[in-house]
Amino acid sequence: MAQREEFAFQAEINQLLSLIINTFYSNKEIFLRELISNASDALDKIRFQSLTDKAVLDSQPELFIHIEADKSNGTLTLTDSGIGMTKADLINNLGTIARSGTRAFMEALTAGADISMIGQFGVGFYSAYLVADKVTVTTKNNDDEQYIWESQAGGSFTVTRDTEGPQLGRGTKIVLHLKDDQLDYLEERRIKDLVKKHSEFISYPIELRVEKTVEKEVSDDEEEPEKKEDEEGKIEEVEEGEKEKKKKKVTEVQTEWQLLNKQKPIWMRNPDDITREEYSAFYKSISNDWEDMLSVKHFSVEGQLEFKCILFVPKRAPFDMFDQRKKPNNIKLYVRRVFIMDNCEELIPEWLSFVKGVVDSEDLPLNISREMLQQNKILKVIRKNIVKKCLEMFGEIAENKDDYNKFYENFGKNLKLGVHEDSANRSKLADLLRYHSTKSGDEPTSFKDYVTRMKEGQKDIYYITGESRKAVENSPFLERLRKKGYEVLYMVDPIDEYAVQQLKDYDGHKLVSCSKEGLTFEETEEEKKAREEKRAKVEPLCGLMKDVLGDRVEKVVASDRIVDSPCVLVTGEYGWSANMERIMKAQALRDNSMSAYMSSKKTLEINPDNAIELAARAEADKSDRTVKDLVLLMFETALLSSGFSLDEPSTFAGRIYRMIKLGLSIDEDEAGDAEELPPLEEEAGADEGSRMEEVD
Ligand code: ADP
Ligand code: MG
Repeated sequence: MAQREEFAFQAEINQLLSLIINTFYSNKEIFLRELISNASDALDKIRFQSLTDKAVLDSQPELFIHIEADKSNGTLTLTDSGIGMTKADLINNLGTIARSGTRAFMEALTAGADISMIGQFGVGFYSAYLVADKVTVTTKNNDDEQYIWESQAGGSFTVTRDTEGPQLGRGTKIVLHLKDDQLDYLEERRIKDLVKKHSEFISYPIELRVEKTVEKEVSDDEEEPEKKEDEEGKIEEVEEGEKEKKKKKVTEVQTEWQLLNKQKPIWMRNPDDITREEYSAFYKSISNDWEDMLSVKHFSVEGQLEFKCILFVPKRAPFDMFDQRKKPNNIKLYVRRVFIMDNCEELIPEWLSFVKGVVDSEDLPLNISREMLQQNKILKVIRKNIVKKCLEMFGEIAENKDDYNKFYENFGKNLKLGVHEDSANRSKLADLLRYHSTKSGDEPTSFKDYVTRMKEGQKDIYYITGESRKAVENSPFLERLRKKGYEVLYMVDPIDEYAVQQLKDYDGHKLVSCSKEGLTFEETEEEKKAREEKRAKVEPLCGLMKDVLGDRVEKVVASDRIVDSPCVLVTGEYGWSANMERIMKAQALRDNSMSAYMSSKKTLEINPDNAIELAARAEADKSDRTVKDLVLLMFETALLSSGFSLDEPSTFAGRIYRMIKLGLSIDEDEAGDAEELPPLEEEAGADEGSRMEEVD
């Protein structure tokens, strides 16, 4: 007798098992879909290997999924001739290594998610325990001996070398010892319905062992022929009418394998004949999604190159869409109806990784390897077509506001990633972007609509970036633009910073950040004269402020963009905005040399209209200490109101408190003994207090 080894389930898996076993879920039937889907995955894997090495199929040439119900023992058995598992696979995959989805799924369940979502989280196997109290998995991989995994949950499982049982050749047999109240799953009708409902589009034959009562005629003088329990299920019908006199009728129970999924692949059918329900069922079968798709596009390309394709947009993003470790699983590649692989990265760019579907090519060779895929010209053309069709499909979704809002909420980031990465489709993607703005109200606006609202004389499209809509709505940078009636787009998604850098313009209108240099307006001669006069008036003040601030700022100039605020800090046109600086600071592994280069240039712009007072005072006494203090304080406050952060907020706070004290003591006695307070500047560390980050 081979040695039995016992293993403890990894803690989170164990928790998941208890949850599955002890919580009441009415939707238990999904276990069958999960196990069939695993069988299909295992078959895909061996078929893929066989494309480059035929010999891997020798251990079992047929590719199938078999289902058997045994009422006398209360067991339901699924057998596949897939890749099987080695002993190490068994131990790792079925119990000791938790997936990232294990915890995520439990959290989702506790938050009210449906058990049928289990497949999306990569823990579908454990759904067997919805209906079984014991599960036995016998498996044979080409690289190892046959092993048996068995568990009644309860914290542990065993693994035993299988020397005595019937040998599988290759593949996996899962025996579910059904709970007493789940014996319904042994009924032929029930199993057929479930396969039809959930697994119709599996591309390997799913065969159910069924009993069949047949009438046979046996010649009186002949021996009854041997009962045939035929693997192929071919039952010889004896033709009636002939030799009638000599025969008598006998009924006989035979078993046969009955094929449950006969349909030709849905993508081969005419789109006009396919209902939305059928597409939805197919979508669910390839995506693990429990909900309908948001949108579907079915097309074929003919001519030089031929392929058929169905693309789906899900209703929502998967929980781990931007998880770098996750293997993408989006477009399935078939070659002339033969499944080649699941996650063909060459078929679709990363920013479209949320799109699911199938492609069936007439032109690719069947024995294509992953290495060959990379430079394959046919794939490049297919990919180009897929991207084009995706954009078309998104455009169609945009025709319905509610659908598009849902779509944008889930996949807007992907579109922006697309703007960043896909220069060829940038302008088409720009049409799909939506932003709130100073004039948008509740409904976000497109660039196209923005352009229709542009004021006479307005050449550029204005935007502001920031942390949130709230943070930018009242930004001082909007003051002048507001006054002029120019609309400003709010870009408050971190990825907007990246996308807008690439976008640069829309329909001939430059995209201009209102917090960066390079913001200019059309003006009349009169306006220009007035502006220059003011500028001249505050020029000495600008010089003085620059002296006080030193290399904290690049320069100090009179501002055009503010109306009420005393000053703002502006960044270089091609450097980082305050928002970008914030984003980069949040990235732990950022490259410091880059940040020095990109964030160094800041210009303090002062409002000539309300700096006059300070200017007069500075003029009167160039060494007035209060002037210096105020300049520092203005600078620090401008940092904040312009969206930057303070490196030493406590120093800034110290200054403010001192100012408050100063204010209060002035109020208390009119003597104005401000001079007695220690000067703000000499405070410990005050000098360095609000320096912008610099590289060492
Ligand atoms: P997923 O299918 O998302 O990987 P599951 O919990 O359904 O998650 O399955 C876990 C793993 O167990 C699979 O990834 C696979 O390695 C292995 N496995 C399950 N069923 C089979 C099978 N029938 N044949 C081979 N391997 C299997
Ligand atoms: Mg699975």
